[in-house]
Amino acid sequence: MRVYLDNAATTMTDPRAVKKMLPYYLGKYGNPSSLHAFGREAEEAVDEARETIAKALSAGPREIVFTGSGSEADNLALRGVLAASTKRSELVVSEIEHPAVLRTAEALERAGVKVKRVGVDGDGMIDFGELEKAVSKRTALVSVMHANNEVGTVQPLQEIAGICRDAGALFHTDAVQSFGKIPVSAKHADLITVSSHKIHGPKGVGALFVREGVPLSPLITGGLHEFGKRAGTENVPGIVGFGEAVFLSQKYLKGNARKMTRLRDKLIRRALEIPDSWLNGHAKKRLPNNAHLGFDFVEGEALVLRLDARGVAASTGSACSSQSLEPSHVLLAMGLSHVKAHGSLRLTLSKFTTEKEVDYVVSVLPKTIAALRKISSLNAENASAYRTLTGVSK
Ligand SMILES: *Cc1c(COP(=O)(O)O)cnc(C)c1O
Repeated sequence: MRVYLDNAATTMTDPRAVKKMLPYYLGKYGNPSSLHAFGREAEEAVDEARETIAKALSAGPREIVFTGSGSEADNLALRGVLAASTKRSELVVSEIEHPAVLRTAEALERAGVKVKRVGVDGDGMIDFGELEKAVSKRTALVSVMHANNEVGTVQPLQEIAGICRDAGALFHTDAVQSFGKIPVSAKHADLITVSSHKIHGPKGVGALFVREGVPLSPLITGGLHEFGKRAGTENVPGIVGFGEAVFLSQKYLKGNARKMTRLRDKLIRRALEIPDSWLNGHAKKRLPNNAHLGFDFVEGEALVLRLDARGVAASTGSACSSQSLEPSHVLLAMGLSHVKAHGSLRLTLSKFTTEKEVDYVVSVLPKTIAALRKISSLNAENASAYRTLTGVSK
């Protein structure tokens, strides 16, 4: 059996989205900027997708800027607002942001922007005391993600937006993981990042909601595409597929969330029957599709490889950090020790995940962990010796 439980990394493109895209590669290949019928037909398709995404966010179509990815939309929000801001020059981000925000904040910091970082509690919830202290009349932009891509914790956007509004600062939220799974509203932020391939649309398309009137400098200059905020001929088939994925996500939002939550809870309940295990992230305020588990005396990477050998695709955290041996910055910010942070497993479901698949995973997981613990240098007996050797305290 092959089971894909890495839907936070990417999802299967919905066949209905692919079907909608195909004509825009074949007969309807016009440039949306062209005046003739080919161009108009492409422009209408882009506009329809723009309206679908705007409606899903309770925004206006002129407030949606298509980009080449969620990462680009994050870059556009941070760099674009800071570059356009005349009176305010500080940036506030949380410590658990996606690398697309964190690395961008670091680059801005090297260029002279003052960056303040706000921590989280043990559940991954933003520290409101720290946030209130960090945000001031010097703050140009606050960027706090809606739902975390590793542990699935969902932040209360309304409260964060309130703090930003009181200080006169703009608020950006990366909603790549939450959009299409739980409601996301433009009422709660000035800028919102979304991405197509995390919600069963094609890869290489994202969008940034930019509230009307928010000053924003483009990253890519050239033609006047996307209301002058992002030059370059639009990825018409990609945008059409993104639009269809968003349409489907909104139409079936509640039903899909209910189904995923039930399977997620089964997965968590059965996984926690394994000795020396725990759940990372908030128990209730979490994404309907996220189960992030910790296991003592197990190396997350080894666990992912063993599960892969049994046909189960999982992750230790984010795909973006799988190349590095550093423990997850999210888990460290939540207060986990290096040793605890290394023993983590992220299982993320989709609307296509079946009960049979979850049953298979919960049947192989205990065996896989037991086998790893048997050979692990981290097992209970020599864990203290390991700690002495490495100097890492548990
Ligand atoms: C995947 C992801 C991104 C990046 O989106 P891409 O379209 O893959 O560039 C940004 N933020 C979060 C929270 C993500 O999960």
